[in-house]
Amino acid sequence: MIRATPGAPTRLSIVVPCFNEQDVLPETARRVRALLDLLIESGKICADSQIVLVDDGSQDRTWELIRDQHRQDARVRGLKLSGNRGHQIALVAGLFTAEGDAIVSVDADLQDDLAAIEAMVDEYRNGYDVVYGVRRKRTADTFLKRVSAKSYYRLLALLGVRIVHNHADFRLLSRRAIEALKQYSEVNLFLRGLVPLIGFKSTSVLYDRAERFAGESKYPLRKMLALAADGVTSFTAFPLRVIAVLGVLVSFLSVAMMMWVLWVKLFTTLAIPGWTSSVIPVYFLGGIQLLSIGILGEYVAKLYSEAKRRPRYFVEEWL
Ligand code: UDP
Ligand code: MG
Repeated sequence: MIRATPGAPTRLSIVVPCFNEQDVLPETARRVRALLDLLIESGKICADSQIVLVDDGSQDRTWELIRDQHRQDARVRGLKLSGNRGHQIALVAGLFTAEGDAIVSVDADLQDDLAAIEAMVDEYRNGYDVVYGVRRKRTADTFLKRVSAKSYYRLLALLGVRIVHNHADFRLLSRRAIEALKQYSEVNLFLRGLVPLIGFKSTSVLYDRAERFAGESKYPLRKMLALAADGVTSFTAFPLRVIAVLGVLVSFLSVAMMMWVLWVKLFTTLAIPGWTSSVIPVYFLGGIQLLSIGILGEYVAKLYSEAKRRPRYFVEEWL
């Protein structure tokens, strides 16, 4: 155990990725600071705890607002990335820069209940290295988002990818969990899949998910689908195996068909030059082949982007 003295206040960092969040940022900062005060007062965390606001290449006034916050309160630190790298990368940039012994990540839009952070810190102090924030219910999300999220989690479970149900990126990680996370050097990040792989003692804290406080979602369908694809292709080669099995099945099927056709030709008078029997397999096999090539392509593309070993992010400023 690296935990210093049992009972001594924990040095906490709260990491908040922000992309074009000028509408919510002042309110978010106000609430997170209030929470920090509360936790310091209760003696659970120490006075040099910090808030790390990560600016993921915003085009609005986000960085200016972060600067203001830092001027008002030195515990608020700002990390400016050199450009927009996406939520997952912005998160790790913050996690790897934060200096606390326990580090909580939370979205800027106040959808995650900040009050749950106290419970997370309690669990950390009980000896857990990973504390997942788990949504009690998702009534604040649209019907479509709820259904798609649920079927996606099902699919991942079916493919053997271990993730925590109804958990997004609201979680606490201990210093050594962060150090472990640093050793995963992949560029295509899906933290929800990676964190369970680290191991260590983990537990969950339940919370209610609210509506976005202001502004609109920074996760358009395109980004959401990309993240969903990463969740599959970064953690399991199962789809590739399905292709192979499918290939074997289709081969058997065509041998059986060949024998049937021969039988019809040789032993019956029913053999009409058939349009259906030749056209249907062509379309069917064409479809399967294209799909298979597509899935293969996804993995090749992943190899391609990982093989280049490009750096994940650059820090432009650290306040
Ligand atoms: N975000 C980011 N970079 C991006 C997109 C989003 O840092 O390219 C941040 C965003 O500011 C927010 C969090 O990621 O703090 C989650 O985004 P959002 O709330 O828009 O996603 P949703 O809750 O709609 O899935
Ligand atoms: Mg949100």
